[in-house]
This record gives sequence, C-alpha cells and structure tokens, in this order.
Amino acid sequence: MKMPAKMLGLIGGMSWESSAQYYRLINEGVRAARGPTASAKVLLWSFDFAEIEALQHAGDWPALTALMIDAAKRLAGAGADHLLICTNTMHLMADEVETAAGIPLLHIADPAGAAIRAAGLRKIGLLGTAFTMEQGFYRERLAQRHGIEVLVPEAEDRKLVHLVIYEELVAGTLRDASRQAYREVIARLVARGAEGIVLGCTEIMLLVGAEDSPVPLFDTTSLHAAAAVRLTLGED
Ligand code: GLU
Repeated sequence: MKMPAKMLGLIGGMSWESSAQYYRLINEGVRAARGPTASAKVLLWSFDFAEIEALQHAGDWPALTALMIDAAKRLAGAGADHLLICTNTMHLMADEVETAAGIPLLHIADPAGAAIRAAGLRKIGLLGTAFTMEQGFYRERLAQRHGIEVLVPEAEDRKLVHLVIYEELVAGTLRDASRQAYREVIARLVARGAEGIVLGCTEIMLLVGAEDSPVPLFDTTSLHAAAAVRLTLGED
C-alpha cells in the first residue's frame, strides 16, 4: 500500500514565471512515480511580485519577513505538511518562516548542495539576485552544511545578472543578448575555478541550459521541485 501523499505548501509568485515551472515539475514528478492520472497535492500562495520587489529594492526586509510569515501560517493552517519557498532570494528569512509556521521547510539550497556533492564538486559559481549573491544567507548554507566553496561574479557581472532577472526574466522576457551575456559571466566564473554553476534564481533556468556552460549547471528550480516530489511521496 502506497503512503498517502503529503500536502505541499508553496509560497510563490516570486515570480509566477518560476512558480509555474514548480507546479509543472512537481506534477510531472508525481505522475512519473504514481501513474498517468496521479498529480501532486499542492497549496499555492502566490504573491503580487510588484509589491515584493518594491519592498526588496527599498530594503524593507522586516516587512517582507512579516508577509512571508503570514503566507506560511495560512498555508500551514490550510493543511500543508511541508513548506517550499519558490525563490532563492526569499530564503533570507527561511528560518523565521519555518519557526513561525510550525511545519518543516524544504530549504532550496539543500537539494542543490546535495547534487553538487553527489557530482563530486566542491567549488561552484553562484548566479542569482544581488541579494542572494552578496548576502551571506545562501553562500553560508552551501559552505557550512555542504562543504562547498562559493564564487560569485565580479561587481559588474553581478549587476548585469541582477538586472536581467528583474527587468526581463520575471516579466517573461527572454533575450538572446542576455543569454549570451550570462554565458560570458559563466565563462569568467569557470576561468576563476568554478567546477559547476548554481542557477541560484528560480527564473534563470528559463534563459540558460546545459549548452550555455562548459561545466555542469545546478538548476535550483528543478532540484527543489524534485526534492519536493520525494517529500510528498514520503521517499525522503
Ligand atoms: N526568483 C528569484 C530567486 O530565486 C528572484 C525573485 C525574488 O527576488 O524572489 O531569487
């Protein structure tokens, strides 16, 4: 007898372009495991990203933490067994969110860290928002929990990677020029010793793929969604 699936609570809409990928990937994973009519038990809280990004760029992290905690509590109250935050950046307040919700949170950096170690790599380049690349919360998790050394792009490259995310990817715009620019940022990280690249923003997988990198890519959206599938099916 199969275990009944657990209810996943997704905090998304950051942006909905990537939340749509999560929804698709999680449902495809459950279907592959449980059969053609099976689908995932999911609750989705989807923010208006215009409100979120305005607070991010104003540096109002206390207000963002309050919004995240409110969403997490509502999902827990509605029956979620596990929480996922469908963005790397908003893991800045992951600990507070998990504590307030009272249900376990599947941290996005952990499946990425596990995949990097499983590939035998120890030194990676990180692409993400400026918040993710420049603050400690993400790099430290990979370093301390997974023993991974994290390189971030130089200042000019960080600016470019950040702008493409906020001006294009969250708006559903995919430009060849931006793909080429990301390829060059990746190449510079590889030249500095990166053995793999973490796509540490959940929209980057929409723009670049394995063909854009001379080293393995670790797409946090796909790895997080795959870990969620194992969790809902009771395999982890
Ligand atoms: N989805 C992006 C991330 O993974 C950026 C949007 C956000 O700031 O939440 O970081």
